[in-house]
Amino acid sequence: MERIGLFGGSFDPVHCGHWLVAQAALEELQLTRLYFIPAAQSPFKPQSEPAPAAQRVRLLRLALAGQTRCEIDTQEILRGGMSYTIDTVRDYARRFPRAQLCYLIGADHLGQLSRWRAAGELAQLTQFVAVPRPGQAGTAAPRPFRVLSLHGFPLAVSSSQVRTRIRSGLSVAGLVPPAVAEAIAREGWYR
Ligand code: ATP
Repeated sequence: MERIGLFGGSFDPVHCGHWLVAQAALEELQLTRLYFIPAAQSPFKPQSEPAPAAQRVRLLRLALAGQTRCEIDTQEILRGGMSYTIDTVRDYARRFPRAQLCYLIGADHLGQLSRWRAAGELAQLTQFVAVPRPGQAGTAAPRPFRVLSLHGFPLAVSSSQVRTRIRSGLSVAGLVPPAVAEAIAREGWYR
């Protein structure tokens, strides 16, 4: 059975933690394909407006260059407004009725899963996969979700840390892929 990974987030900007989540999922779940799905506006961050979508997508493209099993899906950006996972997962369930869908989340999101929009339907349409995130204690999967856990490569890096470091004039080498660091520096983004 085809197994498709879905990885939603703000990716503002994409960092090496995201990249390692993808690597772990591809290996441990033996995914056929993994879609990175940047949100227009995350319901978990209603107060903060992300960087322009074109900027975030361009950095994602640089981060994923050469990754043949990874793709970028801009459907949430094209829909605009608040990005609800259920809308995206319904779309994949319709397009890939025979595939097993695996929705990746950092362990920091696990505890709130039951508050996600249309949680019952979401739990039916996709398997959730929790990836370890340093500093996050392992939380039990809330019912009715089926949650697998990956071993992964826990890396304590976040987009907010990357943004803060750039604003402070500090290096982000090693925290984001080199091509992403170069583009951010060249364009003067996140200063
Ligand atoms: P911010 O610091 O702005 O809140 P973030 O680093 O959490 O951003 P997002 O793009 O919001 O990045 O995260 C998308 C998904 O990736 C979420 O499920 C999040 O839990 C997960 N994730 C992000 N960073 C890591 C990491 N270092 N390890 C594991 N999962 C991560």
